[in-house]
Amino acid sequence: MNHWFSVAVQTPAHSSLGGLLTYRSDQPLAPGTLVRAPLGTREVLGVIWAATPGPGTDMAPESVRPLAGALEGLSPLSDGWRQLVDFAAAYYQRAIGEVALAALPPQLRELGAAQLARRLRRTAAPAGDTAADVGAGPENHPDFVALTDEQTMALAEIESKSGPFLLYGSTGSGKTEVYLQAVARVLDADPCAQALVMVPEINLTPQLEARFRARFAGRWGDGAVVSLHSGMTNPQRLRSWLAAHSGAARIVLGTRMAVFASMPGLKLIVVDEEHDPSYKQQEGARYSARDLAVYRGRLEAARVVLGSATPSLESWHRSQPPPSAGDPAPALPLPPPAGAGRYQRLTMAGRIGAGAFAQVRRVDMNHQPAKTVFSPPLLDAIRTRIARGEQAMVFLNRRGYAPVLHCADCGWKSECPHCSAFRVFHKIDRTLRCHHCGFTERVPRACPACGNLDIAPLGRGTERLEEHLAELLEGTTRPDGSPVRLLRIDADTTRLKGALAQQLAQVHSGDVDVLVGTQMIAKGHDFRRITLVAAVNPDGALFSADFRAPERLFSLLMQAAGRAGRDAAYVAAGASEPEMWIQTFHPAHPLFVALKAHDYPAFAARALHERAQAAMPPFSFQALVRAEARTQQAAQDFLNAVRDAAVATDDCELAAWAPRVTLYGAVPMSVQRVANVERAQMLVESESRTALQRFLAAWQPALRDIRSRGAHKGLIRWAIDVDPLTI
Ligand code: ADP
Ligand code: ZN
Ligand code: ZN
Repeated sequence: MNHWFSVAVQTPAHSSLGGLLTYRSDQPLAPGTLVRAPLGTREVLGVIWAATPGPGTDMAPESVRPLAGALEGLSPLSDGWRQLVDFAAAYYQRAIGEVALAALPPQLRELGAAQLARRLRRTAAPAGDTAADVGAGPENHPDFVALTDEQTMALAEIESKSGPFLLYGSTGSGKTEVYLQAVARVLDADPCAQALVMVPEINLTPQLEARFRARFAGRWGDGAVVSLHSGMTNPQRLRSWLAAHSGAARIVLGTRMAVFASMPGLKLIVVDEEHDPSYKQQEGARYSARDLAVYRGRLEAARVVLGSATPSLESWHRSQPPPSAGDPAPALPLPPPAGAGRYQRLTMAGRIGAGAFAQVRRVDMNHQPAKTVFSPPLLDAIRTRIARGEQAMVFLNRRGYAPVLHCADCGWKSECPHCSAFRVFHKIDRTLRCHHCGFTERVPRACPACGNLDIAPLGRGTERLEEHLAELLEGTTRPDGSPVRLLRIDADTTRLKGALAQQLAQVHSGDVDVLVGTQMIAKGHDFRRITLVAAVNPDGALFSADFRAPERLFSLLMQAAGRAGRDAAYVAAGASEPEMWIQTFHPAHPLFVALKAHDYPAFAARALHERAQAAMPPFSFQALVRAEARTQQAAQDFLNAVRDAAVATDDCELAAWAPRVTLYGAVPMSVQRVANVERAQMLVESESRTALQRFLAAWQPALRDIRSRGAHKGLIRWAIDVDPLTI
């Protein structure tokens, strides 16, 4: 007897199949079962999505291919998991099969039955019964810390309410401790419960993992904590995935991909640094792991805790406490916030174990000689730190030596031949490198256009900043009379595996006096002896075309400020008071004023007010359609054609929703050509999330249709980005 199934398999992007294909089997198979399915001449991994009553009316039963079998020994993926994938596929406008298969570890696709069985036996081994004090409450644990009142209150709320929660607390306020305790309580209460803890960057997982392992390995065994991120090898990823899927792993720590981990006992999801843009996937299905976490929590009745010192304006807005009768009128009135009050805000204002917040000092660069890189007062402050054996951190968001190489005679610039961008000069290996397509050449000895020997770098990256600072600090000595030591940390110095860890160790050990780097060094790392942090040129983001740039700058600077004076004991023992220096031409800018006051709520109120006035997110909802083509014209033509199709349509659904969205004209992307491909985009906006969603779903067939009609020959690909982070 035949059973019929719709099966999720990886199909080409935008195929109208939606990623579900019909198969048959002589076995009854439960939804969620992992199967091998024939596709063309290959056999691919698939997931049974649903049983269907028959092969479908448009299919001859004998044309339906039989499944090659189920993956033995793996329990089916849960209904919740499939619903999460269904939602993500629909919301982000991708095929179910694509999202489902991308969410599974790559090795599941590759391993034969025997190999898989071996892997399964390995994970099935008991996860080390070293747990001496199973069942002991957290208060009996050796690592027990007496919680602050704020922590106690936050935990009580998390335990007793349903959330989602926005845990708003400055760096060092003890958020991670709250996560640890919340996890402990959930896992203590239920022997099958699992917790998912997400961080934005792979670089931050080792630290967090160490902290969770130290806390929980003793209680639930070494196998209880697993990681899941793209820096792992495929066998490691499979092992973690299987451990989570089987329930053997109680805690999964990971980056955005972990939001799709199969966790049958999921009871708690933590999203640390929830504002971080890394939670948004930037290719394929461009999902926001933070937003999916909130959705997943509701779906599976798991608590969700979003944590940040500088929440995204979206989350801040959603956690706006509902105004009560006696409240004074707010200084900057906002429209009645759609979705406000959906999250419960938990505030932790104090800072534990750390000294006062860094004092923010603004240097008005209008009063410095032209071309000053380090103003004299900043330089003095750095020298003082060095002389006292303390550390300073200087950051600039641009790596390389100089962003452009330039010939003053003829005006030649180091443009990339394949992109509409300049190649960056890297002095260390004397190359010109394109940061968009990777095209790299040796630096020419003379101007390629006119032969002038005197070609010079324009502007400044971290490499040049480090060189310049080393010159300025020439002769400065440490307390023991030895010369000052600088270290640069950025994507260039950390390319090799283990390099970052090794460089951070140098900072921790005190080998380094001044750390120079990109925003990479501002995030998360727990440096104990840094008492000065300086942003040498942060102005660019104040006037960026990207409306989210100020939000990112504020959070970066707050985070960077948090790097200074993390150790109260160190400061109390006579170290300098922590300082954050900002060199700016706009010292009175409200962003810097709010920063000086460490006042995120003031920054957020103002920013939300501006967003409301301009009807920008979170007061409207956006999607971008991006097109890539041989020529800019072809890319824009395609976008304009699909826009026209949305306006003049005989599709009722599309016609119903089109009036509720605004379709802007096609424009070139900010870097319009990359690797010889021209890129254009079109913004779609609506005041209603539902309207935008319904419109996009109805519009997709038109996009596919116009593409397949072949009128747009130069078009290479198109994609929709829902809730884009950069425009
Ligand atoms: P955050 O995650 O908000 O930056 P952490 O949880 O890392 O803050 O806490 C900052 C520091 O304070 C850490 O060294 C942590 O061990 C310590 N800490 C946290 N909570 C307490 C507490 N209740 N008592 C003492 N120390 C604490
Ligand atoms: Zn020239
Ligand atoms: Zn290039």
